[in-house]
Amino acid sequence: MSLQDYKGVFVFVQQVDNKVSGVSFELLGKGKELAAALETEVTAVLLGYQVSGLCEELAKYGADKIITVDDKALEVYTTEPYTHAMAQVIEHYKPAIVLYGATAIGRDLAPRVSARVHTGLTADCTKLEIAEDTKEFRMTRPAFGGNIMATIICPEHRPQMATVRPGVMQKAKANESAKAVVENLSVDFAGRQNVEVLEVVKSVIDKMDIQDAKILVSGGRGMGCPDNFQLLRDLADALGGEVSASRACVDAGWAEKDIQVGQTGKTVRPNLYIACGISGAIQHLAGMEDSDVIIAINKDETAPIFEVADYGIVGDVTKILPLFTEKVKAA
Ligand code: FAD
Repeated sequence: MSLQDYKGVFVFVQQVDNKVSGVSFELLGKGKELAAALETEVTAVLLGYQVSGLCEELAKYGADKIITVDDKALEVYTTEPYTHAMAQVIEHYKPAIVLYGATAIGRDLAPRVSARVHTGLTADCTKLEIAEDTKEFRMTRPAFGGNIMATIICPEHRPQMATVRPGVMQKAKANESAKAVVENLSVDFAGRQNVEVLEVVKSVIDKMDIQDAKILVSGGRGMGCPDNFQLLRDLADALGGEVSASRACVDAGWAEKDIQVGQTGKTVRPNLYIACGISGAIQHLAGMEDSDVIIAINKDETAPIFEVADYGIVGDVTKILPLFTEKVKAA
């Protein structure tokens, strides 16, 4: 079988409790673009149990075709049944490209599938494109601690597989009238269920995920101490936004890991990002530089954060933030 026999862009749809995760919609948007450049179609691969109700939504967000594997063995994510199902889909349909979200599930699943089907995997991509002239699939990811961007190709194996960080790609606009062809692949899971899930304990989250926030007020080491995070919260509340942080604050124990922005945290793209006492290290910028509007507050006018900021305020965050909050409340 030659490489040319592999066709189409496939997106692994991550669903938990019958809810599709945001990154899958982002990948469908990107997949559609890649598929258009290759004059092919984008296919959503939906694994789970009694998940057919999700097909309509996937079609609206760009899937031309949906392949489902619907089986009790896939009710809750466990590694082996999902790897087996995904490998069966790949072996049956022979896609040219397969995309996964770089979530906990995607990071567990994608490397195992790549080993199972004997191909490579480019993890944690921030850019995917089809070369105009050669039609080569190019996957770009940060390397050497984010100091360079490495572009990787997969010339000798198929499918070409990549995981993509949530929040990096844009979700496509919904097309309410779009329809997709749905096909069910029947897979035999005998001997594949080597893990029994006894109980699923859900963490109670009472705040919004920073990746969904339209406004982020983000604190860095320049906040000085954890108590000063209250100043960020006050401004975020006044603006209807959320608080996020740099890794320096997370490492210092001032903020929770789930609100860390950057290369080893989350990638965010809010309408407004206010960086307070953040220097603008490349690893931090990697997670927020695509925000629509960036305001930076820093006492050092040469701080690199000002290079990506639309508006800059040079001064002490502990003095500026209360004034900022007061003005917002008065407006
Ligand atoms: P600093 O760099 O210490 O900057 C503090 C800033 O506050 C300075 O610019 C200073 O002028 C200013 N300041 C001080 N006092 C005040 C004041 N009173 N008022 C106003 N401004 C003040 N970092 C991330 O953020 N996210 C990541 O995901 C991440 N991943 C990484 C991955 C790797 C492999 C590596 C090697 C590093 C990573 N880092 C990450 C760390 C990154 O390199 C920086 O060390 C970190 O971003 C610095 O955080 P900071 O800007 O809060 O602190």
